[in-house]
Amino acid sequence: MAVDSPLQSRMVSPTTSEKDVKALKFIEEMTRNPDSVQEKVLGEILSRNSNTEYLKRFDINGAVDRKTFKSKVPVVTYEDLKPEIQRISNGDRSPILSSHPITEFLTSSGTSAGERKLMPTIEEDLDRRQLLYSLLMPVMNLYVPGLDKGKGLYFLFVKSESKTSGGLPARPVLTSYYKSDHFRRRPYDPYNVYTSPNEAILCSDSSQSMYAQMLCGLLMRHEVLRLGAVFASGLLRAISFLQNNWKELARDISTGTLSSRIFDPTIKIRMSKIFIKPDQELAEFLIGVCSQENWEGIITKIWPNTKYLDVIVTGAMAQYIPTLEYYSGGLPMACTMYASSESYFGINLKPMCKPSEVSYTIMPNMAYFEFLPHNQDGDGATEASLDETSLVELADVEVGKEYELVITTYAGLYRYRVGDILRVTGFHNSAPQFKFIRRKNVLLSIESDKTDEAELQKAVENASRLFAEQGTRVIEYTSYAETKTIPGHYVIYWELLGRDQSNSLPSDEVMAKCCLEMEESLNSVYRQSRVADKSIGPLEIRVVQNGTFEELMDYAISRGASINQYKVPRCVSFTPIMELLDSRVVSAHFSPSLPHWSPERRR
Ligand code: AMP
Repeated sequence: MAVDSPLQSRMVSPTTSEKDVKALKFIEEMTRNPDSVQEKVLGEILSRNSNTEYLKRFDINGAVDRKTFKSKVPVVTYEDLKPEIQRISNGDRSPILSSHPITEFLTSSGTSAGERKLMPTIEEDLDRRQLLYSLLMPVMNLYVPGLDKGKGLYFLFVKSESKTSGGLPARPVLTSYYKSDHFRRRPYDPYNVYTSPNEAILCSDSSQSMYAQMLCGLLMRHEVLRLGAVFASGLLRAISFLQNNWKELARDISTGTLSSRIFDPTIKIRMSKIFIKPDQELAEFLIGVCSQENWEGIITKIWPNTKYLDVIVTGAMAQYIPTLEYYSGGLPMACTMYASSESYFGINLKPMCKPSEVSYTIMPNMAYFEFLPHNQDGDGATEASLDETSLVELADVEVGKEYELVITTYAGLYRYRVGDILRVTGFHNSAPQFKFIRRKNVLLSIESDKTDEAELQKAVENASRLFAEQGTRVIEYTSYAETKTIPGHYVIYWELLGRDQSNSLPSDEVMAKCCLEMEESLNSVYRQSRVADKSIGPLEIRVVQNGTFEELMDYAISRGASINQYKVPRCVSFTPIMELLDSRVVSAHFSPSLPHWSPERRR
């Protein structure tokens, strides 16, 4: 097993603070013997939850060892747990999944029957998340010195939340974290000073929140040493916001008054303490830079001391790397952690590496992890053929192999398939490191939305009903996540066949309705992103000439695809294919209005 421990050699530097040394020692401790940490974690989870209805069902009779657990408790998906989740969400407080009370549900961006999944969480999970966050800066400080000499401009947001019928909050994990005392009352730490005040981050009106955060970032532009958002898409939205609002921001700065668009009283009070006098020089600088046509390198122009961008650009977010490179003039992009609503998983111990080389080291104290070997040709073990004995322990995964992540959490998910496919790239001490390969079954994703093949198919079917009477049919389709423009949007390519020889196609009005109908048919995360977050633009249908999909097949066959096994790809991104499709477009149509969405769940 390769032992690679840059932390050990870097830790001893005399400039490393005591707090950082403690955090780095903790990482070393956790990664030296992950197997024994895992054994302990599973033992704790099973002993405290032995009285739960769920575990009793599998007769594990208080056993806390891995062998019994693995032989008796099945590997499950969200669908399997839905009845239990439903009961908890309806208000049943008995120990169904966890002996500790479920304090809230975290709404995952994954969906079930079109609605967000609800992940149970318990009070102490906040400490676990906080612990993982506390490891990030000590690692970063090993690679980038002087981060205590300035601030971080992070665009952080809370999203709308609802209550389940049983009265439990249901909200995204980051909303839960930002609203917690762990975040709001965090002690002063020179390495974690943000330009954004809590009042701006906690404002649920994303437009006021963004305006205030951007204004603070501009006012403190020379102090900013790192710039970020959770995901790359969020940072690009901030740039796009600046593109649309720099005149108003510059006006505020030059007059020393806050725009009337900020009416949230808590932000107003807080801003009145930060934003006290006009700054003509800054306003003129901003006008000079932002009025230029070319925004290449705008980030380093406005925030010249930025050392790196702190954003996740792995997985679905990799599509944003070229745009971020353009706006930042090639600043390094640090992907620091890998986490989900179910549990936080791990951190990147080499945060300044290239995005293509990012590997996350799973911290074995976060949950109990198992790995389902993934067949790299297909989609891995199907439900029917799932061999539960084939799951591998964290310490036993092999370099180069791909696995689906399966977790058992303190809050009561047992052998739960997360749906992420990871490849082992190496080890830190004895702890494996993983490259995030992809999310299973996700076809399209712009931000937190995840649309799978079945959802896309249903949306196409529903929309095509609008012209079925006229005798026109969609004979083939594929899709593309267009992210060059911000916000990005879904593009669906349709090849249509009319009833008669003339092949007359539906009118523009009907096609626009089809776009909207597709949006109405997509899941709630997509619709929330369209309506509330405005992080996805109107869906577009591009109608292509007849014969285009046959050309697509010819192209695939010319590149070695088997004619017998050829399937139309339901999502495309390969440039030659995009060029072929786009060169055959006969008309393009956009959704004329917003689909329906409300924070309440459908019952
Ligand atoms: P959610 O359940 O909405 O919190 O989304 C969690 C999912 O986001 C994970 O299961 C991954 O699929 C994805 N994700 C989270 N962190 C990363 C990362 N660092 N790189 C790639 N994908 C990630």
